[in-house]
Amino acid sequence: MAKTIRLDIVTPERMVYSKDVNMVIARATDGDLGVLPGHIPLIAGLAVWPLRILTEEGEVQVSVSGGFIEVQPTKVTILASSAELPEEIDIDRAMAARERAEKLLAAKEGIDVARAQAALQRALMRLRVAEKDRHND
Ligand code: ATP
Repeated sequence: MAKTIRLDIVTPERMVYSKDVNMVIARATDGDLGVLPGHIPLIAGLAVWPLRILTEEGEVQVSVSGGFIEVQPTKVTILASSAELPEEIDIDRAMAARERAEKLLAAKEGIDVARAQAALQRALMRLRVAEKDRHND
């Protein structure tokens, strides 16, 4: 069986990632999903969570803001509203977004709680991916 599987990460704006990889680990809405070459076909919704990519060179994490994963035996496609490679993440921007969301959630009244929580999750995920990348350097 092939040792690699093609991974494409696509957003409405661009193709974020397109490479042959050894394994993809995603957090689907109903639990973690590890995908190796030859995996059975499936479609699942994704949580706002770092996507882990294992390649010959090691592990890369990509921040993926929800969306869907489609698995075929030779191909994985991630469709997300936004996704960033670690080196693309603007840490100051993510910290500002985290602060904004935390302030809104603390104010409690007159806010869209679900929206503020989602913004907070995206900011925390980006900070996590950027932080991990820094420790790898
Ligand atoms: P913000 O409040 O800072 O705009 P957001 O979570 O609302 O953050 P999104 O709507 O998820 O942003 O994304 C809008 C665009 O901005 C996407 O192209 C996304 O990749 C990019 N983006 C958002 N935050 C960052 C960041 N911290 N670093 C780099 N790109 C980012």
